[in-house]
Amino acid sequence: MPVDHWLNSLSQGSPKSIDGDLAALGGASICYPFLTDSAVASQIELLSGHLALVSETCRRLAIAYSLYMRQMDAIQDASVRLICAGSCDRPPVGCCNANHHVILSPSDVMVSRPTNTAMHLAHVITGLQRSEHEHRVDQGSALTPGYCSCLSSSGCTLSLFKSPLCAHYLCGSVQESLRREHGAPASAFIEAMHAVASRTITSSRDFTDPGILDAWVLLLIPE
Ligand code: SF4
Ligand code: SF4
Repeated sequence: MPVDHWLNSLSQGSPKSIDGDLAALGGASICYPFLTDSAVASQIELLSGHLALVSETCRRLAIAYSLYMRQMDAIQDASVRLICAGSCDRPPVGCCNANHHVILSPSDVMVSRPTNTAMHLAHVITGLQRSEHEHRVDQGSALTPGYCSCLSSSGCTLSLFKSPLCAHYLCGSVQESLRREHGAPASAFIEAMHAVASRTITSSRDFTDPGILDAWVLLLIPE
């Protein structure tokens, strides 16, 4: 898988943070309903070693973000991407028409004044985006000039470090399709996605919403 290929290519620093990060993020009390235990452990280990010089708080936030995004990626694969591929009403590139991977622009920083932790997390994620993107390009993804700089002929070059906006955005057509397919239970999922996609990032809590994963699980349970 491209994600594992990239993770395994990451340079590794000191391993001394790994055990603590595994205990904090991979303990039995933390559930990742869309991931296998081995995928979780391997992802924590490889990112922990790679981010060994980053502060513990920010390193763990960045790893937690990647685990959340991997689950969001599974949800997108099971739902949104099929709709995007089959019936996007904004051809040729849908909503990937600008650099939506940017997490905090200079004007975001001026206007919303995010906390130092949020700024640091955005900085770390931006570096990881660059690495993930460059790896996909090195592996042969051909970029599509004129739109988002992460758009390639095979889709987005980012998986684990998409921006909160990209990971949570659902256009009107996708929302309609989800409501048609799943009925009323789709509403909680759509509302939670919209809340994060439209949120102004001021703190590290604004990057994700674990309630979205629960809303998707509930949506799949027949009434
Ligand atoms: S989310 Fe909507 S606009 Fe974006 S690619 Fe999918 S169908 Fe097209
Ligand atoms: S980062 Fe990926 S999902 Fe987001 S706009 Fe660019 S190509 Fe699309």
